[in-house]
Amino acid sequence: MESNVDQREVPCPKCSKPLYALLRVTKTKGDSLLLVTEGSPRVEKDDAGNFIKCPHCSARVPMEPNPEHMNAGYYVSEPVSQPKSEGSA
Ligand SMILES: [Zn+2]
Repeated sequence: MESNVDQREVPCPKCSKPLYALLRVTKTKGDSLLLVTEGSPRVEKDDAGNFIKCPHCSARVPMEPNPEHMNAGYYVSEPVSQPKSEGSA
């Protein structure tokens, strides 16, 4: 059990209904990687960037492409409650 993997549903910021599911992979360094799971709404793209459109209220939820795993998924640009720990300077 080297890596911790857990999945969570992300509610729409507007209507609070489930928007998509995220897979959080925690690496050994403490970095956590967020991937949009299969079966979630498609990530679309326009001039302002990547986003997912809420299937319930059509809200636009911004997404950031994951530079390390372009083929695997996307980061979410919403704030993730994980304070950056500074173990060793
Ligand atoms: Zn919504």
